[in-house]
Amino acid sequence: MTRLDDPLLALRGQMREWGADLRPLALEIDRDPEAVRRHFGLPAVRHLATMGIPAEYGHEPEKIDGYRFYGVSALERAVVMEELACADVGTLVAAPGPLLAGVAVGLFADERQKQWFYGQMLSRPLWTCFALTEPDGGSDAAALRSTLTPTADGALLSGEKRYVGNASRAQLGVVFARSRPGPLGITAVLVDTAVPGFHAEPLDMIGLRGARISSLVMDRMPIPEERFLGRHLPATRRGVWAFVQTFNMLRPGVAAISVGIARAALEYVTAHRRTLRAAERERLDDLGRRVDAARRLVHHAAAAVDARGTDGHLASAAKLRAARLAEETTLAACAFFGPGARLAHPLLDKLARDARAMEFLEGTANMQRLNLFQGLLGGKIERTRPPVTTP
Ligand SMILES: Cc1cc2nc3c(=O)[nH]c(=O)nc-3n(C[C@H](O)[C@H](O)[C@H](O)COP(=O)(O)OP(=O)(O)OC[C@H]3O[C@@H](n4cnc5c(N)ncnc54)[C@H](O)[C@@H]3O)c2cc1C
Repeated sequence: MTRLDDPLLALRGQMREWGADLRPLALEIDRDPEAVRRHFGLPAVRHLATMGIPAEYGHEPEKIDGYRFYGVSALERAVVMEELACADVGTLVAAPGPLLAGVAVGLFADERQKQWFYGQMLSRPLWTCFALTEPDGGSDAAALRSTLTPTADGALLSGEKRYVGNASRAQLGVVFARSRPGPLGITAVLVDTAVPGFHAEPLDMIGLRGARISSLVMDRMPIPEERFLGRHLPATRRGVWAFVQTFNMLRPGVAAISVGIARAALEYVTAHRRTLRAAERERLDDLGRRVDAARRLVHHAAAAVDARGTDGHLASAAKLRAARLAEETTLAACAFFGPGARLAHPLLDKLARDARAMEFLEGTANMQRLNLFQGLLGGKIERTRPPVTTP
């Protein structure tokens, strides 16, 4: 299994310290996700605003205990995500920053596109969005119907998207659309949301409200040719492959967010139920052990992705397990406070609502099962045999 080295332990300690600023904001951001604008000065929010931008684009690293961090590795991001999600997942997902769009740019943009995107991200805190899901397509992302209609100097982008994080306030985005039928007809484009034709509205969500999940309509939005992501790459590397690789890189971070939510629920029980009956103590300890085990799996999956970007199968196992555990743990935590827990303990209620969203974020549980199964079938992950026991 993967162990955190000294730099990553230092990073974890720093995030835990910075995370302390976020916990008091949890209910405020849940009520009003725009309230995050008042908290741009917090070190955790500042860190997220540039996390993932490589050094060569002028990104000043986060210096912690003499180590330098840019947020480019999946393991580094998993450490940050768990700590900040444990502090408050709402503020984590509400914060501006490159996140999914930034990973896609890192993987597929050409040099000028990177300079354009990262240059803006470094100039001031900006929100970004990654728009793939469509209203009637959901998990079947490759069947997307948004179109790119060719013009003399690029294309016109039209279509609808749904459940896109932070789209209603994003200044920049990566949007997937098709220029012709079939899987190879899908292309990602870089979008400046100020260009006429882009309309996004936040949806009224029950969980993860900080993320400003939005619906999106694009109406003949002009996209110059130089904003076509991966135009220097073959068609097989631009569309479906591009979003699969982006999800592979991000998936350990999503799993880590679930671990953070589960941990927050356990910390809440520990802080608010000072005396526990033996059976309750046992239940809490058992959940704690399962959270620790899920974290180990997340770190292992992140290390696999860092070693080879296409190795996202183990990360599917981690996301699957961690998302289910977050839901189970937050509901179990409510049970420690009796039938009225969700009314009497609004923070716990929020954690349970947020945990439910983790089922959908970056692909539902069934999609992760399919990916995991394909990994097993293709020999990409090892099948471990149960130990032989003697009677
Ligand atoms: C909080 C949140 C944030 C999100 N952020 C973004 C974002 O920033 N950008 C973006 O593009 N998208 C985003 N999404 C969309 C998300 O990534 C999912 O892909 C999407 O929610 C799934 O589509 P759907 O809800 O229409 O469900 P459906 O695809 O309709 O699925 C419904 C159910 O059917 C199951 N199912 C579907 N297909 C199969 C199959 N082939 N085999 C077995 N079971 C199947 C699913 O597992 C699920 O249980 C977000 C969603 C949420 C909830």
